[in-house]
Amino acid sequence: ATPTALMVGTGRGAKMGILIKNGEVLEAVNDVKTVVFDKTGTITVGKPQVTNIVGDEAQVLKVAASLEAGSEHPLATAILARAKTEQITPSDVVDFEAIEGKGVTARLADQQGVVGNHKLLDTFKIDDELVQTETRLQNEAKTVVFVGLGDRIIGLIAIQDTPKTTSTEAIAALRARGLKTVMLTGDNQRVAEAVAQQVGIDEVIADVLPGDKADHVQQLQRDGKVAFVGDGINDAPALTIADVGIAMGSGTDIAIDAGGIVLVKNDLRDVDRALALSQKTFNRIK
Ligand code: ADP
Ligand code: MG
Repeated sequence: ATPTALMVGTGRGAKMGILIKNGEVLEAVNDVKTVVFDKTGTITVGKPQVTNIVGDEAQVLKVAASLEAGSEHPLATAILARAKTEQITPSDVVDFEAIEGKGVTARLADQQGVVGNHKLLDTFKIDDELVQTETRLQNEAKTVVFVGLGDRIIGLIAIQDTPKTTSTEAIAALRARGLKTVMLTGDNQRVAEAVAQQVGIDEVIADVLPGDKADHVQQLQRDGKVAFVGDGINDAPALTIADVGIAMGSGTDIAIDAGGIVLVKNDLRDVDRALALSQKTFNRIK
């Protein structure tokens, strides 16, 4: 395409709320074979809510809220919001630690407390019944965290984030172009599959530690150019390594800096519109 065509293309994008950082990015869009999405905040709204509490509700919530008070994770926000609604005040903790992709730990009234997934709880014996409850909730697209105090698991909390209303349409449009769609998430496989099914995503890569997202993008690049769509701090390496990094405008500054394209309107359908724009710019009779 001529420099003029590129300027016209990026200018059109800007008017639609699709900020394209340069012409090379617009050209790469045209060759994309796979579109990879982060889950939380990209496909889903990113405002998860507590849906179930198993165990002594007041105690489970009190312990969980106390431990999560030091975390900025969306799951922590959901737990603290629910505690507030129930008028439960978090207690002070010491030695708080957030463990990426696993959960949080701290000491609470001289006992060790934990909130997180199985990766964090490998030293605990979890009741078969509680594990069955976990599976059932995960199949309903709910993320489950166990709450432990001292040497025992006192219960679990299920947290759900709903897909954005436009996600299904956005993904259908990409699939109609013959592109492969993939969800890449740190969440559990069952939860990820349930969400993927709701929105029509082809493939799920779950239980991914934040540091490993970029490696998975690289593996997918063996089959052709990859676009990665994300919003979080932990998405920045994947946004950088992808052939086309697409950041949600509502995302963290770090993600926005790493993206070659920014979707100002936070509308996932703009991924397909960016593809159409690139096609228009590059497939003209030369
Ligand atoms: P993503 O951003 O893709 O949802 P994360 O890597 O942030 O994934 O989290 C993956 C998993 O790690 C969560 O689903 C949860 O099981 C656990 N986890 C992470 N942070 C916390 C936290 N603050 N409290 C409880 N569990 C957590
Ligand atoms: Mg996210």
